[in-house]
Amino acid sequence: MLRGSGCVYKKCRFCDYYHDSSKNGSENFNLNREVLSNVTGEYGELEVINSGSVFELDSNTLMLIKNVCREKNISVIHFESHYLYKNRIAALRTFFSDFRLKMKLGLETFDYDLRENILKKGINEKSPKVISEDFDEANFLFGITGQTADSMEKDIQLGLTYFERICLNIMCRNTSSVIPDNDVKTVFLKEIYPLYKENTQIDILINNTDFGVGD
Ligand code: SF4
Repeated sequence: MLRGSGCVYKKCRFCDYYHDSSKNGSENFNLNREVLSNVTGEYGELEVINSGSVFELDSNTLMLIKNVCREKNISVIHFESHYLYKNRIAALRTFFSDFRLKMKLGLETFDYDLRENILKKGINEKSPKVISEDFDEANFLFGITGQTADSMEKDIQLGLTYFERICLNIMCRNTSSVIPDNDVKTVFLKEIYPLYKENTQIDILINNTDFGVGD
């Protein structure tokens, strides 16, 4: 987990982790250099997260990611980005042209009304095809009031159709105004989780620290 200049959007109603940032690029780079020194290359892939979008990392950090991946024989790099940066993804792929980039979108759901009117995600587009065209992977958020087994199933099926890989995040209580819906979480755990827990195209984070980062 690296540190960037901070999410430029900051309007997602369920989010409180964009505080993990600093406007001081050289301090960010020093911290990120220390973190990147732990990369072993064991799996041949690197997943970079930074409480926002890859485009909020400083240029020295991006260069270091490139160098570390070369040194450690890493061929695949995963980055996260908000939809608002989609026009910059082609240039990022060019900058990392020696690697296969997997761009992950924070989508949360294909349900436009829930996503835009309640979660305020800031993706003013309804077509799954258009939404997914610059991205390879997507995050979904489950455990929100109004979601049902059918709606979560629909999100998963569309997610598997339009992305190579999806990550299902179960809403955890944080300092935002969105309260996790325990009934929806129970429906997910009973009816959805058993169907997909072994699916290799799907990561499931029951707790938001299940990737071993954050607190
Ligand atoms: S979820 Fe991502 S894009 Fe939305 S406010 Fe949080 S850091 Fe920013």
